[in-house]
Amino acid sequence: MSAPSPHPRYPLLFAPLDLGFTRLKNRILMGSMHTGLEDTEGGFERLAAYFTERVHGGVGMIMTGGIPPNAEGGFGARLSTPEEAARHRVVTDAVHRADPGVKICMQILHMGALARQPDCVAPSAVKSRVGLHTPQALDEAGIQKQLDDHARCAALAREAGYDGVELIGSGGYLVSSFLVAKTNLRTDRWGGSFENRMRFPVELIRRVRRAVGPDFLVVFRIPAMDMLEGGMSREEVVALALAAQEEGVNILSTHFCWHESPVPTIATMVPRAAFTSVSGRLRSVLRIPVITSNRINMPDVAEAVLARGDADIVSLARPMLADPEFARKAREGREDEINTCIACNQACLDQSFKGQEVSCLVNPRACNETTLHYPPTTRPRRIAVVGAGPAGLACATVAAERGHRVTLFDAASEIGGQFNLAKRIPGKEEFHETLRYYRRMIELHRIELRLDTHVDAASLRSQGFDEVVVATGIVPRRPEIEGIGHAKVVGYIDALTGRRPIGERVAIIGAGGIGFDVAEFITHSGPSSALHVDEFAREWGIDFERHPRGGVSGVRPQVRPAARSVVLLQRKTEPVGKGLGRTTGWTHRATLHKRGVRMLNGVDYRRIDDAGLHATVQGEPKLFEVDTVIVCAGQLPARGLYEALRKEGIAATCIGGAFEAGELDARRAIDQASRLAATF
Ligand code: FAD
Ligand code: NAP
Ligand code: SF4
Repeated sequence: MSAPSPHPRYPLLFAPLDLGFTRLKNRILMGSMHTGLEDTEGGFERLAAYFTERVHGGVGMIMTGGIPPNAEGGFGARLSTPEEAARHRVVTDAVHRADPGVKICMQILHMGALARQPDCVAPSAVKSRVGLHTPQALDEAGIQKQLDDHARCAALAREAGYDGVELIGSGGYLVSSFLVAKTNLRTDRWGGSFENRMRFPVELIRRVRRAVGPDFLVVFRIPAMDMLEGGMSREEVVALALAAQEEGVNILSTHFCWHESPVPTIATMVPRAAFTSVSGRLRSVLRIPVITSNRINMPDVAEAVLARGDADIVSLARPMLADPEFARKAREGREDEINTCIACNQACLDQSFKGQEVSCLVNPRACNETTLHYPPTTRPRRIAVVGAGPAGLACATVAAERGHRVTLFDAASEIGGQFNLAKRIPGKEEFHETLRYYRRMIELHRIELRLDTHVDAASLRSQGFDEVVVATGIVPRRPEIEGIGHAKVVGYIDALTGRRPIGERVAIIGAGGIGFDVAEFITHSGPSSALHVDEFAREWGIDFERHPRGGVSGVRPQVRPAARSVVLLQRKTEPVGKGLGRTTGWTHRATLHKRGVRMLNGVDYRRIDDAGLHATVQGEPKLFEVDTVIVCAGQLPARGLYEALRKEGIAATCIGGAFEAGELDARRAIDQASRLAATF
């Protein structure tokens, strides 16, 4: 029988991979993500539905979220008994029923010093910068127990129907904390020289392989560049990779950080596929296939990574939340229909770090597959959606996909609402993809789009729609400060669109998400580092080429000088930027700090005049001698249309910023809009 012809556009991505006793149908791995479902009542059924949608969507292999091998290993549903293994059957059976060709592996995650319980364990009693407790140092018996528990867990995973296991040797979790001198202070055979420090992972792989037999996948996740000052050297990484290969690992998965690394590795400001060259160099010394990951969010990026020889398999984790049909759409030439992960972390990692269930900003069905459905309607209706910001776009798309006849209005000449401002911020270029997705959805679902159309109650009445949805967004708040009408005061919309010039010395009133974005916008100089790996590496002090210890040791970040002198102000006394995303806020604060932006809290604004902005800071009078004051003081709902409709007795539903502007973000806007459209 002749071999099937390669995919015309993605010949490498859709090539099968022979692994000896088994094979992968393509090179797309759904990477490991903790969803929080494991820990809920009925969670395994929900997980089964979540994975099954991704199987139907064409992935070749799935890696589950991390499952601890024992009580010390961390949160949630562990796998240490046959009874616990039986619960996993619902997941493995569902995946194999959906497509027997798809492999599902279970990640064994022992969190070590990052486990949330006070009696957590590690090679030495060294508290992690991001951990809650100082761990107890394991004694010899304790080490043997951890190794045996991992081996038992792997054997149970096999019993539970998995095709393999992944051992996580990175991230700052138990295994990786043996590898690095700063967390491994031992002087016995498990510490000291690198040979001793890598004894734990090597012994772990050996015991796991012995427990599962030869025909079961063992994947090892290696810290290929751990981004730690004094972290692993390139030679140490290679030595560990070769030892893992020797001990019978089938696939090596490359990882690029510890949780405490001071370098962003997955935020939207990280360039696409920024780290894959590291995987490529490691792959060149190995016989076994290599997985690479991080910010691979479109099929052309994935294909290019494989074409460069950086990896054999690409791991897409968050992109699989954003669009379960990613692989199928790529295979069928429908890339423009992919709902792209914008790497915001808002509905996924930020939630996970708060111990809450995960979903996705651009796809609220993620992890809600059993409760949020968009079935075809049996009663098509004529629906008007006013406002084509994220809320209106999501509502129109879901309603039209279900078979309703939707007319989408916007007063502006392009769709997107405030996303058209967000996409201008250096580091937020991915927001263009969301707008591309919605433009395609408007075409695909034949939504009637009426741009440059300011809608009022009378025009809606005359058109006789069955349903009216008001998604008219917000108006920026204009705080009552003496002199707010002064010529040097500029609103954030005018600042970001360039409608008003910005001076050399600037005070920003309001340090929420928009205040930070405006500060980034007006201090940025040179190309966006999100689009240039070299620029990104310079800015964060990474040496991909020489790979000193951790990739960062002794490398000084080089920051382009700020385009302006800026002070970012808030009234609250809490630290500036505290309310930003859990996993991304620190990157924004660090960037602005490096550019010399001053951040002040406890500010009471008094007056704006020719001299500048008069205020008190922590009670002390202060004059900010600035030539521009940019106002980013939050927003109020734009409800004029909604109120007018109510007055005229026309039923309408208000969503997004128009519904509630306080603490509104695109996540809430899209979620609310999609849920409403699911009810029509
Ligand atoms: P809008 O986006 O405000 O859309 C409302 C639309 O209605 C507009 O297009 C307007 O023209 C139209 N309209 C109003 N009245 C009428 C009328 N009478 N007739 C016709 N059309 C009308 N959120 C995040 O979650 N993450 C981020 O990283 C993020 N970054 C941001 C960065 C910036 C610089 C800004 C400004 C916002 C950012 N946001 C972010 C916030 C996010 O964009 C908003 O939460 C979201 O856009 C709100 O969606 P919406 O559809 O309710 O309103
Ligand atoms: P915001 O986060 O609510 O911040 C508003 C800021 O204005 C605060 O710093 C607030 O701080 C200040 N403020 C409020 N009332 C004021 C008044 N009367 N006078 C002076 N200052 C006042 O809102 P935003 O920055 O406008 O952002 C809007 C939404 O977009 C947010 O929900 C945000 O999540 C989202 N967004 C997210 C991101 C992201 O990266 N995730 C980026 C941009 C926007 P004080 O009250 O302490 O002064
Ligand atoms: Fe990607 Fe944001 Fe969705 Fe997470 S919430 S999967 S980062 S788009």
